[in-house]
Amino acid sequence: MSDAQLVLRSTRVITPEGTRPASVAVTGGTIKAVLPHDAPVPSGARLEDVGDDVLLPGLVDTHVHVNDPGRTEWEGFWTATRAAAAGGITTLVDMPLNSLPPTTTVEHLRVKRAVAAAKAHVDVGFWGGALPDNVKDLRALHEAGVFGFKAFLSPSGVDEFPHLDQDQLARSLAEIADFGGLLIVHAEDPDHLAAAPRHGGPRYADFLASRPRDAEDTAVATLIAQAKRLHARVHVLHLSSSDALPQIRAARAEGVRVTVETCPHYLTLTAEEVPDGASEFKCCPPIRESANQDLLWQALADGTIDCVVTDHSPSTADLKTADFATAWGGISGLQLSLAAVWTEARRRGHGLEDVVRWMSTRTAELVGLDHRKGAIAVGRDADFAVLAPDETFTVDPAALQHRNRVTAYAGRTLSGVVRSTWLRGERIAAGGEFTEPKGQLLSRTP
Ligand SMILES: [Zn+2]
Repeated sequence: MSDAQLVLRSTRVITPEGTRPASVAVTGGTIKAVLPHDAPVPSGARLEDVGDDVLLPGLVDTHVHVNDPGRTEWEGFWTATRAAAAGGITTLVDMPLNSLPPTTTVEHLRVKRAVAAAKAHVDVGFWGGALPDNVKDLRALHEAGVFGFKAFLSPSGVDEFPHLDQDQLARSLAEIADFGGLLIVHAEDPDHLAAAPRHGGPRYADFLASRPRDAEDTAVATLIAQAKRLHARVHVLHLSSSDALPQIRAARAEGVRVTVETCPHYLTLTAEEVPDGASEFKCCPPIRESANQDLLWQALADGTIDCVVTDHSPSTADLKTADFATAWGGISGLQLSLAAVWTEARRRGHGLEDVVRWMSTRTAELVGLDHRKGAIAVGRDADFAVLAPDETFTVDPAALQHRNRVTAYAGRTLSGVVRSTWLRGERIAAGGEFTEPKGQLLSRTP
């Protein structure tokens, strides 16, 4: 470590081999060595000793709606990436919709990258979008560096991003499989949604009934069948219905290439506790019952669910009306995701190593960034979060960096205070202070 510029030392460093006291040597933004805790610090290197706070790899959040450009009153790269940094996230991958333009052509990707470049406090990558009419654009987008393609099987909530019917899904997936890409899918079946009871109004139970589990289960079955037929690689976004888990396990056992994510809100909030009219809890698919939540945790523990991502999808407060049928659907949780998941994970007997696996290692693998991100290991980017895991705080919306401070977590007491966040060996956030943006724009590794 003779050429190290920085040494980060902690009694609890989370590495792929487990948690141990260590000194992490950093040169040129890269981890050069993971050494014993008492390793001598070379002359000229700066020592940052965080004591008993935990040093963990920066989180990689592969599901964030930044909405920039176009709906920047909802969020934006400046605010989203600051919130990410405040919450220990060092890489985010932006969803292709809710921005204007959506990321559905190479030209649109160019526009998005230009907007993000000067505002990124953390590293930012992009998903492309698969629409009914852009099959011809998919290969070029893949070659331009998007990490994969998002599609909806039911209406997305914005007119400029229409969903795919079964034939269109088959066509898009065949094209994506042909160039070895990844399709990520919002899996709710439109016919089951149309057949579900719809009352509108402020009752959460009515909203829940309008987005039934079988809509998810059927769409997941559709996706699995297509992935199997085409030998394609697919990813189920924001799984909420635990009833879909058995078919996912069965598909995996058969060798179908399907991965699955879920979100902090499905793991930490329950339908039983959502107050009527509280549409800050509205998202699609919805937050379900506590018995469902138990099964999601079980699936995380046994590996059926690969990873946990925020699906941070904010809007302005005025769109969060008390009518669940018409309120904007999306939960804002970027800055709070680590603490929310850790609080509940610990209660259920999981370790921080598990949380790191779900929120950093596996998400980095999902997008093929695991040569650079997702672990404290030699050769990876020196991206870290320093966490006081036993310290608690009560969520005060005013303390959030999100552009809009509407959050379902308001007033909750959470464990896990992020003391500082580091990107390529530079401290980018600590105690509510931030450096100038130092994030890079990331592209899929060919
Ligand atoms: Zn989403």
